[in-house]
Formats: sequence, C-alpha cells, structure tokens
Amino acid sequence: MAYKARSVPVDLKILRILRNRMDFTPEQENYYLSKEKGFEGEVQFDLLTEQLRSDCLILNDLCFEVNNTSFQLDTSIIFQNTFYFFEIKNFEGDYCYRADRFETINGKVIMNPLDQIKRSHTLLLQLLQKLDYHITVNASVVFVNPEFFLYQAPKDKPIYYPNHLNRLMRKLNNESSKLSEWHKSLADKLISLHQVESAYSNVKIPTYDYKVLRKGNTCCNCHSFSCSVCNGKVICADCGHVEGVESAVLRCVGEIRLLFPGMRMTTNGVFEWFGLSDSKKMIRRILNQNFNSIGERKLRYFE
Ligand SMILES: [Zn+2]
Repeated sequence: MAYKARSVPVDLKILRILRNRMDFTPEQENYYLSKEKGFEGEVQFDLLTEQLRSDCLILNDLCFEVNNTSFQLDTSIIFQNTFYFFEIKNFEGDYCYRADRFETINGKVIMNPLDQIKRSHTLLLQLLQKLDYHITVNASVVFVNPEFFLYQAPKDKPIYYPNHLNRLMRKLNNESSKLSEWHKSLADKLISLHQVESAYSNVKIPTYDYKVLRKGNTCCNCHSFSCSVCNGKVICADCGHVEGVESAVLRCVGEIRLLFPGMRMTTNGVFEWFGLSDSKKMIRRILNQNFNSIGERKLRYFE
C-alpha cells in the first residue's frame, strides 16, 4: 500500500465541477480532458506499484517548493539505497523523437518529459541536500498508455515504454532493500513539505462567476441535474442512483467551498446551490449538525 496515497488534484476537482455547471470552450474542454487523462495515467501506474512486495515506501503525488521554484513528483519510491521517481505520461498515439525533441506525428513540438525529469532531479537533489538526507536519486519517464508509440525512440534515455512496465516492476521487486527509521523519517519529512497545489494560482482554470454557473444538485454517479428528494434520499431520474440527502448536501457544501473559498456558508446559499425544492429545513438541520453556526437568524452562517 502506498505510504502517501494519491488524491484527485484540486484543479481537476474544480474543472470537473465547472464543466458540469458552465459551457467550456473547445480549448477549455481540451485542457480539462488532458488533465483527466494525465490523472488517469497516474492512477493506472498506481495499480502496478501497489503490487510491489519489496521493502519500499511509495509516495504518490508530491509537490515541493525549493528556492521559490516548485516541482512535482508523480510517483516516488524510496528503497534502501535509491530514491526512484517517475514522471508518468499517458500520451496516446504516435509521436516522434527528433534531435532531442518530442514531436507529434505532425511535427508539433511538445514539452520534453526528459527535460522535465532533469529539472525535477536537480531540484530534488537541492531539497535533499538542504534536509541533509543523502541518497542516490534515479529519475525516469514512464509512458503508460498501450496506444503510445514513439518513432525513433532513443535507447539510452531513462524512459519506460508501455511494453516495459512489467520489466520495470520486476526490477523494482528484485531491488534488495531493508528500510530503517531513517527512510521513514525521510518519507515523513517529504510528506510534511508537500504543498497542496493552490488551484487559484492556476491560470488555466476558466474564470467563473457564481451568477452564471448552473445551480442544482448533481448526481454523484452520472452528474445529471435530474435529481429529486424523496424520503431523505436523492434519486437520479437518469441513472437511478440513490444517495442519502445528507451526503448530497455535504457534497454541495464541498463544491461551494472549493469554488468560492471566501464565501460565507448560509442555509440560503446552500439551498440555492442544492436547488431541490422543499429542502431548506433539511439543509438547515444538516448544516447545524455538521458545522458551527455563527450569528443569529438571517445573518447566520456556518464554518
Ligand atoms: Zn445519475
């Protein structure tokens, strides 16, 4: 099991909500899909690393800041003598490696993942030095998508292609390793330094306005707005999914907090977002049970 589990990145969470509640331009849609795909690739790689039986610590999704520069490690695995990190790419289709560059089959130059790991490698070494932990660092790029093909693939670069993944796992499984408290303290230190990415600094999140976003509870299974409340349950007319009303209301609260961190949580506000008629009393009760209420009557809000 991973020592640090992967969670859905904040910016992807926001994009998922926005996509349901506003109309994305084709460009925004592409950006969203690429984010979704990248995350999917990371999760796919997690399914492999989860099966490792060697003595190691797996840290998924770490983000650091060193000397005002931030960098991200998709998957890190600490062994006795080596710190491996992997940059996971879920590219699909045909690409070409030409003159140290990655290009699409049409010749469009894309970000070179090798440059990316080189940069992360240097920054990680700086961080480890600063923390006074000395361990060999090994960085590689992993292409997880079986539909990915790289023409003129270089042989001497730290890259694992889809058909090398089993071999990579065997290699990691055969790594002789006996971890000590020192390794655990390194892992704990890194987790404590992990920066939860601030989604609000991400320029690629479409600008959004409370007024124009589609209101209403969405089905947690199929994202449909066609939901109704019946006997304390929210029922989706499209897929038939049933969710407890409390869970649905708390999900709405989570959405509002994520999208509008500065906004005061009031019964009316949540009611407007939740959008199901006759649910106001229920919402007030659920907010009272789960949050601290501040202020009286009309000015009351929850934290
Ligand atoms: Zn549904």
